[in-house]
Amino acid sequence: MHRDTKAIAWNGHDIAGKLEPRRDQVFRINVRNGDEIRKLTQLVNSDHFKLSVWKSPSTFDRPVDILVPSVSLLPVKSFLKSQGLDYSVTIEDLQVKTCFNNEDEEMQQNEGQERSGDTFNYGSYHSLEAIYHEMDSIATDFPDLVSRVKIGETFEKRPMYILKFSTGGGKKRPAIWLNAGIHSREWISQATAIWTARKIVTDYQKDPAITSILEKVDIFLLPVANPDGYVYTQTHNRLWRKTRSRNPGSKCIGVDPNRNWNASFAGEGASDNPCSEVYHGPHPNSEVEVKSVVDFIQNHGDFKCFIDLHSYSQLLMYPYGYTVKKAPDAEELDDVARSAAEALASHSGTKYRVGPTCTTVYPASGSSIDWAYDNGIKYAFTFELRDTGHYGFLLPAKQIIPTAEETWQGLKVIMEHVRDNLY
Ligand SMILES: [Zn+2]
Repeated sequence: MHRDTKAIAWNGHDIAGKLEPRRDQVFRINVRNGDEIRKLTQLVNSDHFKLSVWKSPSTFDRPVDILVPSVSLLPVKSFLKSQGLDYSVTIEDLQVKTCFNNEDEEMQQNEGQERSGDTFNYGSYHSLEAIYHEMDSIATDFPDLVSRVKIGETFEKRPMYILKFSTGGGKKRPAIWLNAGIHSREWISQATAIWTARKIVTDYQKDPAITSILEKVDIFLLPVANPDGYVYTQTHNRLWRKTRSRNPGSKCIGVDPNRNWNASFAGEGASDNPCSEVYHGPHPNSEVEVKSVVDFIQNHGDFKCFIDLHSYSQLLMYPYGYTVKKAPDAEELDDVARSAAEALASHSGTKYRVGPTCTTVYPASGSSIDWAYDNGIKYAFTFELRDTGHYGFLLPAKQIIPTAEETWQGLKVIMEHVRDNLY
């Protein structure tokens, strides 16, 4: 494989075909007051520097991470200096890092091992096709416990599959929804989700916790909530976040599927600009990927829990994102989240921050868990998985299993609480 070509293809920009050397960097900017937040917001909102926001400006004690393309390095540095903003470079050479991930770990399993039909390697990142194939294998291996269900088709006509885990023998039970990969570049979330699927079937009837959970509730798992975006991250732009739908009248593609739910739609923390990474779309559920989940959940009618896996930042959050107002169940949700974060940390020391989305990170309207909560699904949580910014979205594959294992500890705490508090 030609190293340069592959490196370019995996770079953060759509520059396939151009071979000039690039050295894109990720900057971390420490924000100390409201004035600095305003300056930074101005910077990231200007189209001029072609920046990509990894971590948005938010509360005072949370740094901002931005990807600065090589052509903008000098002007951005001088802007930051002239404004007195304090910054450091967290990723010196994004291309090298993507390369490293890629050649060393990320995709090596795709050509060879998994195509030959051998065991799925949970310690590496996989194509959509391979994940779908593994979902099928899990369902085939455990037909009394698992089924693979198609819940819809994406904008580009790919199937959307979920796994249903149930011991109810066809009887309808209260249910838990596990969602992952709604933002396609957050690869650790899809990888954690498929690992979790295998973990559930492996531990059923061995681990009393998951066994007793499945005695009372069904679990539905959607490991790739944005399949078109996920494929695009592997073929064109590793850092693609949105869907791949067309926006009439704009050259920009895609909608942020986690601003597209019918929960204070088009409110704070979402953009009406189709070129924005947080574009909310023309109307709620405009994205077929979102609508398919909404329809499925509403037709089912008895979901008690909705958990959405994202990366990165190591946070465990609950509603609301669209308002600073406290959710009516905030105290209970906070208790559950704290216990979950504690269990997660006890596994290997990974520390999470816990709180409502809006005041823990930033206002975000139209998000999945706010929609779930406003539609009667009380136990609604968002995980932002590893790490805190050293690798950001480019978490090396060797961290997949450690991340999935610790996350499982947190997930179990939440699911046990749901089991014991059915309403
Ligand atoms: Zn996300």
